[in-house]
Amino acid sequence: MTSLIKKIALGTTMLASAISFGAKAQNNMDDVTIEVQELRGGIYALFGRGGNIGASIGEDGIFLIDDQFAPLTDKIKAALAGISDQPVKFVINTHWHGDHTGGNENLGKEGSIIVAHDNVRVRMKASDMDRVAKGEMDMIRKDALPVITFNDELSFHLNGTEARSIHISNAHTDGDSIIHFAEYNIVHMGDTFFNGRFPFIDVNSGGSVDGALNAIDAVLTLSNDDTMIIPGHGPIANKGDLQAYRDMIQTVRDRVAEMKGNGMSLEQVNAAGPANDYAEKWSWNFISAERFVGAIYSSL
Ligand SMILES: [Zn+2]
Repeated sequence: MTSLIKKIALGTTMLASAISFGAKAQNNMDDVTIEVQELRGGIYALFGRGGNIGASIGEDGIFLIDDQFAPLTDKIKAALAGISDQPVKFVINTHWHGDHTGGNENLGKEGSIIVAHDNVRVRMKASDMDRVAKGEMDMIRKDALPVITFNDELSFHLNGTEARSIHISNAHTDGDSIIHFAEYNIVHMGDTFFNGRFPFIDVNSGGSVDGALNAIDAVLTLSNDDTMIIPGHGPIANKGDLQAYRDMIQTVRDRVAEMKGNGMSLEQVNAAGPANDYAEKWSWNFISAERFVGAIYSSL
């Protein structure tokens, strides 16, 4: 291993800007460096700003999982050029958020085929139409939209192996996919896993705490102690990291469910602090204990 694993631990400030996928986060990316970490079997993780990228490299071309922000496309391509002379043939988006799909338009215009769950296309198109209506954009970004969408599962047979994309309903959003390279025991979880941090459950995009737990259980079921997990944010994880994340979410979820079941308002629940004992270890500047609890409360 060379100097590949530098700067993999992302700072919380960086993560916050990664999550706020508005125009502000699109600016000032000059300071971002794309770091490449080789996993195994021609599969890599790329870390820059925004959601972690997965890449399968081989004779059939580059298969990319997520593409961060539009201003980073050239840097991402330069990083990929260091490990492959092939073009990006396919991109799959793990969900619709802009820190995972921002590079779609650039790559789509260059001929990459964009693939995602049905609801990713629906939400991306609706968001663009909303911005057109508000005068923030002239027209929708047609080349950014997935051209192949699926409902349940989809397999890619590329670079001598199979990557299975599995939809988990109503987890981080209503369009999440996890991508499993069974032969190499690697999973990309998108934002169904924030390694070491409270989850962002985007209830406004159809996310829910129970779906988030289902996504984790699906990955735990296909994992063993040798599994390498690419989270949406944070460093590469193992099964134990994911289990700890699950235990934390389940505990807080059950506390909130009991309180809500007893008729407590969200304000009363937050006053009781059901996630407070986890806050020191897991909170970050985008998701406080209160925000985590609020997402659980509203999705139950
Ligand atoms: Zn997300």
